Amino acid sequence: MEYRFDPLTQEQCRINPDRARRIRQAGGEVDLDEIIARTRETCPFCPGRIEDHTPMLPREICQEGRIKLGETSIFPNLNPVGENHAVGVISRAHFLALDKFGVEMFQDNLTAARDYILSVHESDEEAIWPVYMWNYMPPSAGSIIHPHSQILVERQPLPVQAGLLKRSEEYFNRNRCSYWEDLVEQERRLGERFIYDGGFLAVIASFAPRGFNEIQFIFKEESSVTELSPRQMSDFVTCLIKALKGYQKLGIGSFNLVTYSGPIGEELHHYRLNAKLISRPYPRGIYTNDTGPMERLCDVWVVDTLPEMVAENMRSFFP
Ligand SMILES: [Zn+2]
Repeated sequence: MEYRFDPLTQEQCRINPDRARRIRQAGGEVDLDEIIARTRETCPFCPGRIEDHTPMLPREICQEGRIKLGETSIFPNLNPVGENHAVGVISRAHFLALDKFGVEMFQDNLTAARDYILSVHESDEEAIWPVYMWNYMPPSAGSIIHPHSQILVERQPLPVQAGLLKRSEEYFNRNRCSYWEDLVEQERRLGERFIYDGGFLAVIASFAPRGFNEIQFIFKEESSVTELSPRQMSDFVTCLIKALKGYQKLGIGSFNLVTYSGPIGEELHHYRLNAKLISRPYPRGIYTNDTGPMERLCDVWVVDTLPEMVAENMRSFFP
């Protein structure tokens, strides 16, 4: 068992790879195909139902009511957890295995999300804090199987966003250089957790993860998700798809993705847009959860996956 602390936030994490082999009395086989087929029958995000079963965006955000691009359709979340909370259905297919996401499909989703974010911002100039996130399959807290992203545009940053920005600024003022550039360079030099250099962004396994198989995507120049050019988005999407293919090979069947974006319209020299991808338990009828009292009530992140092993596992998917 090892204690680690996030180099920027000092959040505590405890890693014990042996726990991955502990006895789990719950679990076993589940017929995923049956669940996919059954939920397809009434899925509100499937073609033929999506138009009648999902709400419309206000006219000032989108004249047509839903932002559409390729297979993506963006509309309001009926049960929001934040301001301007929208859903971005990514595919016409009801289910996509982790290795079935295409670059174009993913990029359309991200591009449409950016258009939505900018449109919200245009109608409310105080809405400057965008979040793009994913809950894939029920163990990730995704209630609908049909692949979809979630987009928020809030007037205040999420507490974690605020903390990252504050500490990044303090680091910059102390060292006269960017924490994020230093982090990438240090990880590149050490090699233990470095996975990939995508040109516009770097991919590493987090030193002190908050989740299992945690991977960080760190952009080299941009601080906000709205600053990304089509090429930068394509680079990001390509990296995500590689990571998901790696996850699939590792037997992972559920994940969360969150972008930690700086505010819209401010190019921050001390901050870089970054995102985290974590695996969640495999979808089974009843399973051993990956979070318990330490995570939910103590702000301590207990993980089974050693970051150095995560990097080693993932590297082959980033040739
Ligand atoms: Zn569906």
